Order: sequence, then structure tokens, then C-alpha cells
Amino acid sequence: IQPTAMTIQSSSDNSFIKKLKTSGRSLVVFYGSQTGTGEEFAGRLAKEGMRYRLKGMVADPEECEMEELVNLKQIPNSLAVFCLATYGEGDPTDNAMEFYEWLQSGDADLTGLNYAVFGLGNKTYEHYNEVAIYADKRLEELGATRVYDLGLGDDDANIEDDFITWKDKFWPAVCEHFGIESTGEDVSVRQYRLQEFKEEIPERVYSGEMARLHSLINQRPPYDAKNPFLAKIIVNRELHKSGDRSCMHIEFDIEGSKMRYDSGDHLAVYPVNDTELVEKIGKFTGTNLDTVFTLINTDEESSKKHPFPCPCSYRTALTHYLDITMNPRTHVLKELSEYASDPAEKERLRLMSSTSPEGKSLYQQWIISDNRNIVQILEDLPSCKPALDHLCELLPRLQPRYYSISSSPKLYPNTVHITAVLVQYQTPTNRINKGVTTTWLATKQPSAGSELPTVPIFIRKSQFRLPTKPQTPIIMIGPGTGFAPFRGFIQDRNFAKEEGKGVGETILYFGCRKRSEDFIYEEELSEYDRKGVIRMHCAFSRDQQEKVYVTHLLQRNAEELWQVIGENNGHLYICGDARSMASDVRNILLNIIQTKGEMTEQQAQAYLKKMETQKRLSADVWS
Ligand code: FAD
Ligand code: NAP
Repeated sequence: IQPTAMTIQSSSDNSFIKKLKTSGRSLVVFYGSQTGTGEEFAGRLAKEGMRYRLKGMVADPEECEMEELVNLKQIPNSLAVFCLATYGEGDPTDNAMEFYEWLQSGDADLTGLNYAVFGLGNKTYEHYNEVAIYADKRLEELGATRVYDLGLGDDDANIEDDFITWKDKFWPAVCEHFGIESTGEDVSVRQYRLQEFKEEIPERVYSGEMARLHSLINQRPPYDAKNPFLAKIIVNRELHKSGDRSCMHIEFDIEGSKMRYDSGDHLAVYPVNDTELVEKIGKFTGTNLDTVFTLINTDEESSKKHPFPCPCSYRTALTHYLDITMNPRTHVLKELSEYASDPAEKERLRLMSSTSPEGKSLYQQWIISDNRNIVQILEDLPSCKPALDHLCELLPRLQPRYYSISSSPKLYPNTVHITAVLVQYQTPTNRINKGVTTTWLATKQPSAGSELPTVPIFIRKSQFRLPTKPQTPIIMIGPGTGFAPFRGFIQDRNFAKEEGKGVGETILYFGCRKRSEDFIYEEELSEYDRKGVIRMHCAFSRDQQEKVYVTHLLQRNAEELWQVIGENNGHLYICGDARSMASDVRNILLNIIQTKGEMTEQQAQAYLKKMETQKRLSADVWS
């Protein structure tokens, strides 16, 4: 491809049909991906198509003219697969948003389109896999032919298992549909070609930037996911008063960045991996980490030329661009098996990557339950010495982590605050696994006389918002770090009050283990309570024999709750643990609405749904 041709953007660049035709392909796998898993699954499916004589291509719906789906049938034996993640409160991912809206509002005739959908979701969330479920149903309504049943992956359990189990049945269904026979070949083709620079180092070498070279040195707004702002940390203090856990209150300086935020938004942090782990990978693979290299996509049609900013050194790739701490997926283990010289280790890796019941069970035990990352796998299987460039191709991208902003721009226009719990835990193999971002943030301590530590950040807008009128009463339920966004909300309401505005009731349900241990922001909260800015209900779960949770207090205060939401049109907010707290709170709410509002269970469900659509009930939860 001539460089000039690449820079000219014509609408035909977005024609996936044209791309498929010119490269002799018939399989297109679209992905709706927020953290990279959907994209990774799509890539694996496209690659495996070869085995069934279906040459495949991965496509980002955001970069395609999706209306062209009506014409896919022009290509004989063509198939469109959709790997679609559901995000937050049942939303499509950013890159699938337009496609989703097109599906919802359009009436295209998709007769003759062959398709299948795999969804990526998380059962701890209320709207489990809603996007994939809808897309699967809607494509059929528009006339398309479902080649195989919808598959649903649950990231709370073992999404890798869900995916390979689905795929194992999906391919035979595809073969039957098109009357094709498997070539039986196990394809293990590299997607990227390696170029190493041993003597002459190129001038443009990336060192951790997300896109533009030197963007972290020559900072230029606007700042976003591709162009993060390097913010100074001006405060990093411990919030827990005692106990063996740690919770950090961190203030980032955003002055001069032109970044704006609202209470309820999220702050994204780009972390770096632990040096010790990076060095270990260099040692286990016998690679000089200072070597500068480039990985070049062998598929010239692909819009993705490199898996991450290249050229860079192996150290940069492992430190900034690749996830080296999550549990590797089965296809990674399969490729690793080729590098093990010890037959027993080779067999173990092969078995774990297979779809046999023994293989799945070993993967579940040795990788998931024992919680091994790539470093620990290489440590425990010492004969396995993969080529580091191959490993760099296989590992997923290191993702930014999100934090609920715990300040209000009314009070702090030039700083953004977060409230983050340090993640550290012991694994069954007696190792201490450390959360990438929180462990790194804990080291970022500003100290007098030296330069302030810096961290790449950007702000992500959220739907978690105070009511437009401050008079509207609100109830906030946020145990533990779930309190974070409410600190911003309370500051906002206090600000309005000080400006002389009428402010409705501001009720907070907070919970922690022990008053003397992890009652975060106790002084601030007590002062707001004393001044009448908030009414606070606290549940200290471990200060007495019986557990007391925010849910118990809600039940006890059913009258007050119904007054706010049932009689005074108030808003209710839930933040924090998605796994059990959020659903427990929902159940209590249903219960209270039923009894106090004199409704049947069905009516109460409908009432909650209505509150959601009216934005009177919002959740900001994570697991
Ligand atoms: P990682 O390296 O990502 O490790 C975390 C992973 O380790 C977990 O996903 C889990 O797989 C595993 N793990 C953790 N604990 C254990 C354990 N005990 N046993 C076994 N495995 C374990 N966090 C906050 O502290 N405050 C916030 O305000 C906040 N807001 C958020 C808002 C949103 C919208 C989202 C999506 C998340 C939010 N989080 C918040 C969580 C935050 O984004 C990170 O997930 C968290 O800080 C951990 O990041 P880390 O890089 O340190 O850990
Ligand atoms: P926390 O300190 O673990 O919990 C806060 C309070 O909530 C405690 O008193 C706890 O009681 C109580 N609680 C437990 N289950 C509850 C329920 N079903 N309903 C109501 N209250 C309940 O909170 P945190 O450390 O801020 O963490 C909040 C959640 O986010 C946790 O689930 C945690 O796993 C998750 N989190 C995840 C990550 C990550 O790495 N992905 C990082 C940070 C936090 P007891 O503990 O006494 O039962």
C-alpha cells in the first residue's frame, strides 16, 4: 500500500463488503468491545475460519458502513458474526453505539444475511447481556438467518469457558449450514510479523504513549483515552484509621488541562505494570528487554497496523501496553505449549487449552482458581520459553482503570479527587497478587522538596447525575468505596445551599466494617450531618455480633424511603459492590415499594423500571 493511498479517506474505505471481496473472504466478525475482550474473541473466530475454508476478517462497526449488511449476501457462503459486549446499565459499547441505534430504529431488509451472535456480559449486573440478546433477536426480525444460537458469556464466572464451549458447537453448525467440511488443520498463523532493530535504532520509538509520539511530553488538549493528561498528584492520603486494609484519597491537579468534569463522572487512570514482573518475563524468555522491535500486521487490509504503539522496546511493551497480570485465555496456553520442551509441561498446556472436560477442569483449577498470571505460569513451567514477540502478540492490552470521582467541580474546579481501595490478596499458590493500578498509585506520594508524581488520566462522562433541581430530595446508598461519587454530590448540594438555594432532603446510607477502622471521611460527613446538609444512616457491619448492612437500615427506615421516592418524587442512587450489595438493595426497594405503595410484586417491578427510565433510580456499580 502506498503511503499516499493510506492517508486519503474516502467513503469506500469504510466498505467492508469491498474489503471482503478484494481479499477473497466471506466471514466478517464485528465486535462491540470496551476493554478488548470482545475484539479478542472476534479475532480468534476470524482466524479459526480458515479451518473451515471461511477466510475471515475482524471489523469495528464504528469504522464500517453497517447499512452494507443488506448486501453481504452478494458474497457466496458469507457469514457475519457479532461479538457484542454489554456495558454499564445495559448499554452497548462506545464503538457499537451507532450500529445498535441503527438496529433499533432502522427497517433494513436483511433477508439472505447469515449471522450469529456471541454476547459478553456480567451476571452481577442487572441488565445481563442485554445488547447481544437484543441484537440477536432484532437481526432475525429484520429477515436475517440465524446460523447458530446466541451465545452468552459471563465475565463474573468464566467467560473463556463460555466462549470456547459456544464456539465448539458454533463451527459444526456453520459447516452444516454451508455444507462445508473442516480442513481439520489446526491453524496457528501469526497475525503480526516481527522486525527487531539491533544496530540501527529508529528515530521514532514509543515509550508509553497511547497514540501520538511524545504526547506525554508535548501535551496538547483535548485530552481523552488516546491522548491522556499527565496529571500531578498533589494529595495522596490514607483514609482508614486502622486495620490491615488501605483506602487512598488522591487529588489530581488538572489546572490548565481544559478538562471539565461533573459530580458523578469517572476518572480513568493508565497504570504501569510492576517492574519486578516485567523483569521476570525478560528472564524467563531469555530476552534483552531493551531491544527495540515492531510488530506489523500481516493482513494489509486491516486498519490495525500494530497491536500497540510500535516501534518500542520490549520493556515498554510489557510495562505500558500489555496486560501481564490477568489469567491468560486458553488460546494463549495453546500457543505456549509449542514452546515447552518438557513433554509433561507441553501436555499440561495443551490439555488446558482443549475443550475436553478434563482440559476445562484443569484450566478452571490451575489458571482460574489458583489465579495464575503469565509470569507465574512461566515460573511454574520452566521448560516453556516462548519467543517474547509472540507473547506480545498474544497478551491483551493493558486497560485503564476507572474511578468514581469523589469531588465536586463547584468546590474543586482545578482538582479531581478519587477514593481507591488498595487491591492485594493471597492466591492458593501462596503468592501475593497486587492490583496493578492501586499498587502503583500507592507509590505515588507527593513529598515536599521533590517533583510531584504524575499519572496519565482522562475523564469519562457518566449518566450518574444529581437531579437538575436541587429541591428534589435524594437518597444515596454507598457502602465502602461506593461512597465515592456521593462525596461530590454532597459538596454540590452544600454549595447550592450556601448560595441560598432551596435544597431538598439529602439522605446518605453509608456502611463499613468498623467505625474505628474504615469509616472514611468521617469528620467531613459528621460536619455535614451536624450542619443539616445531610441526614446520615450508618451501618457498621462488624461492630456487633450480628451483621448490620445498609440494607437492614433501609428496611428499618421504609417509611422515610417511601416518603422520598413514592410521595415526593425523589431520586435514589446506588453505588459500589455490584456482586451482592446492589441486588440486595434492589430487592429491599421492591419490598418497600410493595408494602408502602400497596402494590403487587409486578407493579413494584414496573415502578422501579419507570424510576429508571425517568432517571430517578441510577446505579454506578462495579465488581
Ligand atoms: P487489578 O490489577 O485490576 O486487579 C483486580 C482484579 O484482581 C479483580 O478484577 C479480581 O479479578 C482480582 N481480585 C481482586 N481482589 C481479589 C481477591 N480478594 N481474590 C481474588 N482475586 C481478586 N474502585 C475503587 O477503589 N474506588 C472507586 O471509586 C471505583 N470506582 C469504579 C467505577 C467504575 C465505573 C468501575 C468500572 C470500577 C470502579 N472501581 C473503583 C474499581 C477500579 O476500577 C479497579 O477495578 C480497582 O481499583 C482495581 O484495580 P487494580 O488495577 O488495582 O487491580
Ligand atoms: P467493603 O469495605 O468490602 O464493604 C463495605 C461494607 O459493605 C462492609 O461493611 C461490608 O460488610 C458491607 N457489605 C458486604 N456485603 C453487603 C451487602 N450485600 N449489602 C450491603 N452491605 C454489604 O467495601 P469496598 O472495599 O469499598 O469494596 C466495595 C466492593 O467493590 C467490594 O465488593 C469489592 O469486592 C469491590 N471492589 C473491587 C475491586 C476490584 O479489584 N475489582 C476493587 C475495589 C473494590 P462485611 O465486609 O462486614 O460483610
